[in-house]
Amino acid sequence: MPSIPCPKCQANIEFNINEVLKAKTFTCSACKTVITLTYEDNKHTLDKAKKELDKLKDELGID
Ligand SMILES: [Zn+2]
Repeated sequence: MPSIPCPKCQANIEFNINEVLKAKTFTCSACKTVITLTYEDNKHTLDKAKKELDKLKDELGID
């Protein structure tokens, strides 16, 4: 599961790429800060996460 640091307390917030693409909001489990992840704001993190996911899919042979 990819994750980003919470902007407030730096705790890792795990997210699902598909949910980010739908502009879902996420809540930090440590400090309850609600953040909205958007693809444009997190392009670098998401591209990296997506590459890892694609690689994993290749290895598992799933689509
Ligand atoms: Zn936090």
